[in-house]
Amino acid sequence: MTDVVIVGAGLIGMLTAHELVSAGMQVCMLERGQPARESSWAGGGILSPLYPWRYPDAVSELARWSQHYYPELCRQCAAGSGIDPQWTRSGLLITDIDDPAQVQQWATRFGARLEQLDTAGIRELAPELGLHPGSAAWLPEVAQIRNPRLVKSLRAMLEQRGVEIRPDCPAQGWDIEGGRVRSVRTPGGAVSADAFIVASGAWTGPLLESTGLSLPIEPVRGQMLLFQGEPGLVSCISLHKGRYVIPRRDGRVLVGSTLEYVGFDKQTTAQARDELHRSALQLIPALASLKIEKHWAGLRPGSPDGTPVIGPHPDIANLYINAGHFRNGVVLGPASARLLADQLLKRAPTLDIAPYQVENIKNINLS
Ligand SMILES: Cc1cc2nc3c(=O)[nH]c(=O)nc-3n(C[C@H](O)[C@H](O)[C@H](O)COP(=O)(O)OP(=O)(O)OC[C@H]3O[C@@H](n4cnc5c(N)ncnc54)[C@H](O)[C@@H]3O)c2cc1C
Repeated sequence: MTDVVIVGAGLIGMLTAHELVSAGMQVCMLERGQPARESSWAGGGILSPLYPWRYPDAVSELARWSQHYYPELCRQCAAGSGIDPQWTRSGLLITDIDDPAQVQQWATRFGARLEQLDTAGIRELAPELGLHPGSAAWLPEVAQIRNPRLVKSLRAMLEQRGVEIRPDCPAQGWDIEGGRVRSVRTPGGAVSADAFIVASGAWTGPLLESTGLSLPIEPVRGQMLLFQGEPGLVSCISLHKGRYVIPRRDGRVLVGSTLEYVGFDKQTTAQARDELHRSALQLIPALASLKIEKHWAGLRPGSPDGTPVIGPHPDIANLYINAGHFRNGVVLGPASARLLADQLLKRAPTLDIAPYQVENIKNINLS
């Protein structure tokens, strides 16, 4: 007996399953490949949008809710699975600020701790930095998690709690009758349930096309480099002109990322590797002596202004969508999952749901 089928076992699907199982639902997840090997594995795990003041309030609201909830979620994950997602308050230093007043306004509005630093302050905080900007924004409360560990832990907890996760099981279409989905078609046969959720990341658009809905969600490739380092080399997450450096607890350092509109092509390129390497050394010259351990790419579920769709399909009563988190699915995920569960379970919503409804998403095409 399945109450809810979730299509896509990335972080968004898993967090949504976690919410529904906690409310007593029987959940089955269908995954085209292996669980959480796409964007949710490839991401950097920074628990903040990169320049948070550039986003609509709808994104900041989700981020704020999730940021408060993350320490508790990671405690649950570590206790429930033995895998610690390593929530770490690293702080975020942003050294290319155009308009300090705009940054201050955003911080006041969303209750974020912000310090505006001068050159001396920057040098004291991050002596390893190779840049010498005159000013920077310091967000000391921004944390990070290791997303591959978070998804491994969530998967273990979900399976312990009776969620069936079916790998290599792509959803191929819908059987719709009387304005409701009866079942979702897969190569292994049709899977029935009372309700269905599409949490298929960058692949959400094609999957919904046959339902008459054309969502502006498209793949946006991001490439990352991983350096093998020693703890203490890099003091905080630092960001300059869209490129960032993330220090992990074990001394590894991640450098990201590119933003490429190349369809569903997930290959890495030599050009991106060179560019990321150059940016990394400009930010932290000491990285020059470190070995590059890995270079990878992932496909973000891009959306016009970064606002995800979280809510029901406009024409099909028992079909829901949780997708389009673009560059911020890790930080927005917990709030997004809670809001989707609130709507499916007809609970009072945790946040105002209006900005995330299909009808209010920019560039939507309702055919
Ligand atoms: C390089 C990079 C850096 C990033 N850094 C950060 C960061 O620091 N902080 C942050 O908050 N976010 C970051 N992100 C964004 C974040 O990773 C994504 O927004 C988030 O992972 C999206 O999660 P998802 O579950 O929607 O998508 P995915 O993780 O892509 O999961 C979707 C799943 O659905 C499956 N699927 C697709 N179609 C079907 C089908 N027909 N049937 C069954 N299954 C299907 C896919 O195989 C996949 O497993 C980054 C992303 C990238 C690529």
